[in-house]
Amino acid sequence: MHIVTFIPGDGIGPEISEATKRVIEATGVDIKWDIHEAGQEVFERQGTPLPQSVLDSIKKNKVALKGPITTPVGKGFRSVNVALRQTLDLYCCLRPCKTFKGARTRFENVDLIIIRENTEDLYAGIEFEKDSEDTKKLIDFITASTGKTIRPDSGISIKPISVYATERIVRFAFEYARKNNRRKVTAVHKANIMKCSDGLFLETSRNVAKRYPDIEFEDRIVDNMCMQLVQKPKLYDVIVLPNLYGDVVSDLAAGLIGGLGLAPGANLGEEIAVFEPVHGSAPKYKGLNKINPLAMILSGVMMLKHLGEVEAARRLETAVAHVIEEGRYVTYDMKPSPDDPTAATTSMVADAIIGTLS
Ligand code: NAD
Repeated sequence: MHIVTFIPGDGIGPEISEATKRVIEATGVDIKWDIHEAGQEVFERQGTPLPQSVLDSIKKNKVALKGPITTPVGKGFRSVNVALRQTLDLYCCLRPCKTFKGARTRFENVDLIIIRENTEDLYAGIEFEKDSEDTKKLIDFITASTGKTIRPDSGISIKPISVYATERIVRFAFEYARKNNRRKVTAVHKANIMKCSDGLFLETSRNVAKRYPDIEFEDRIVDNMCMQLVQKPKLYDVIVLPNLYGDVVSDLAAGLIGGLGLAPGANLGEEIAVFEPVHGSAPKYKGLNKINPLAMILSGVMMLKHLGEVEAARRLETAVAHVIEEGRYVTYDMKPSPDDPTAATTSMVADAIIGTLS
């Protein structure tokens, strides 16, 4: 039996989590779910959106399946999702982006692996608020040491990029490429502008690449990468990026395979793995039983593989592929028009997958 920490999340989280739990249980794999809540409601009850009990459960079980959790914009508590990744040192965000036959996409046969660094960059959470004493001191220090002025009514976010974190994420990308018969790793950066941070990311990536002569290596500037992906995604294979570009390019890549409703993900550390869809809590769809559960179900497929339940993962993925190809029991986002009256509900998609599982 496997014990898995299960965090339904908020917004659309509980609906897609329930659908995912049902299809995983239908594979027959013996899983005991250790269910925990996190996010806004927990914050209101317990004064923290991420109670220690959630972290303890994940540390004990080593594997978690998680729905999306809302982050207040511009104010309020910091992202629970980022806190989980940082606290548990889940340094790698692995997001496979593969087209399924029958999904409405501009390209056929897209097969990209997005590998996003998860612990530093502008996500480090080192921020200086406009008008605070520390911000004034920082502005004075920067002016004194660089001669450059910063407008006094500025807020400042710090972007640290280290050799340590870059080495381990790029190493992960190459090891992943080797294990999964991939031909090429592309490192993405803006080293022409941010020479100290992105420049270090690029230099470190090049050094790591030398240890993997069997895998092709190249780099791309992030803006060019976005255009290239939209025009010719087939040129790319494994793509490794610092945190913020990884976030943006993940959504772009999701768009290439039919949208966020189809993009799964995993946050991986040395020992712990937390599986979650790329998308967020889409609050406007909350409680409507309308949203696509496939991104979370495919995150569940990744989890089953991680647990060594390879056959169950294969059966579940085949059932998902069948339901997509048939095109009957798919949600609004996979129909020709979002108001298509034949769109299936979230729970109907789960039922169809369960009915198809061999
Ligand atoms: P979002 O990913 O929640 O949704 C953006 C849009 O994408 C939705 O309005 C919807 O049109 C579409 N979409 C998303 N998921 C879908 C699905 N399963 N099926 C069909 N369509 C889907 O992004 P947002 O609106 O920018 O963020 C909402 C909240 O989620 C924010 O608070 C954000 O911080 C949070 N968030 C959480 C995570 C996470 O938990 N890991 C990730 C991203 C965003």
